[in-house]
Amino acid sequence: MSDVVIVNCTVADGRVVNGVEPIADAAVLVRGERITLAGPREEVLRQAEGATEVDLGGAYVTPGLVNMHTHLSLSLPGQGGEGVKGLNAHELALYMADGARRTLNCGVTTVRCVAEKDHADFALRRAIEAGRVPGPRVFTAGRALVCTGGHGHEGSDTLECDGVDGFRRGVRAQIKAGADLIKVMISGGIAGEHERIDTRQLFADEMAAVLATAHAWGRKVTAHAGPAPVIAEAVELGLDCVEHGYQLTPEVVARMAERGTALVPTLLVTRCKEFFDELGVPEWMQCRSLGAGPRHLESYAMALEAGVEVLLGSDMPPFWDFQGTSATVRELEYMSEGGLGPARALYAGTLGPARWLDADGDIGTVEAGRYADLVAMDADPLADTSAFRTIRWVMKGGRVVRDDRAGKANHV
Ligand SMILES: [Zn+2]
Repeated sequence: MSDVVIVNCTVADGRVVNGVEPIADAAVLVRGERITLAGPREEVLRQAEGATEVDLGGAYVTPGLVNMHTHLSLSLPGQGGEGVKGLNAHELALYMADGARRTLNCGVTTVRCVAEKDHADFALRRAIEAGRVPGPRVFTAGRALVCTGGHGHEGSDTLECDGVDGFRRGVRAQIKAGADLIKVMISGGIAGEHERIDTRQLFADEMAAVLATAHAWGRKVTAHAGPAPVIAEAVELGLDCVEHGYQLTPEVVARMAERGTALVPTLLVTRCKEFFDELGVPEWMQCRSLGAGPRHLESYAMALEAGVEVLLGSDMPPFWDFQGTSATVRELEYMSEGGLGPARALYAGTLGPARWLDADGDIGTVEAGRYADLVAMDADPLADTSAFRTIRWVMKGGRVVRDDRAGKANHV
């Protein structure tokens, strides 16, 4: 891999929320996999001896996006999901590898997987790290923990556990397989026919067992959770992140803000009728999902108001073509329009997730020492989050993986 110096661009990252201004007429020097200098062009060029120049033609450059709620082996009820469920182990691995490649191409350079089938995510991560298949950096929970018959029990992307011992064992089994974090389903959800969104699924002792075991091993815990009472209890027990949060209240968001519990709102899952139609998702699930939409958005607004840390996560496959862009970018637009605004949306899609993952020394900013995981787009993401629709160029670890500026369509 040759060293490159990226020129003719404006550089912005999530530090803008802390007053770090974008750099116009910037350059970024990349030696090997990492950024060694980012700043005003003249300054960077003085240090750029031996580097090949990459002219971005006036593009805006940000860190690659981090999608904090992904399932590369997702199978929802309905015929699309049945197709995925029917894949054998080899087919599943290849299917996930294809999803990983597509994900990277749409500018998502890191994902946090929060329930994947059969531990295939660990094989995928090893293959990506070894350079055998293109894909984003992968942080993964392995299989999600769920009570017997609980949310998502139908698939091999969950592990049924019961009681304190059962959940401890579940946590340890994921860590043994290589999990970076733990995902647990503490309430019902949209995709379970015999439950409601507000069905409590874990007892307090089970939740405490998950949290204490994971934390003892230095792993954070995120919970699929809808209703406020269950979330409130988990937050008091030390939960690190809430997924969805369909039915939050002012009281629970205040506690989340105080205790530093993050929220990945996944706004798309209650506003993606076209996606459900494409997969042949049954009527009951569509009704439950779309019916929960207004309350879901209200919960999100409450969280923003209270100062809860919100992070980008699509739940839908990150690369899915949806309403004219990728599911990831569409989600970020919804977050931005829902009250976050473009600067904080940029943070929520890059530096915020990097911090949650304790990976901000490696990813999340355009800064010396970080991996050169970068995207370039035609429009200004600080003026409008829809700028991410114009991503034309993607670099991961110093290697250009997509370049379709000037009519070129070179994808890995
Ligand atoms: Zn999910």
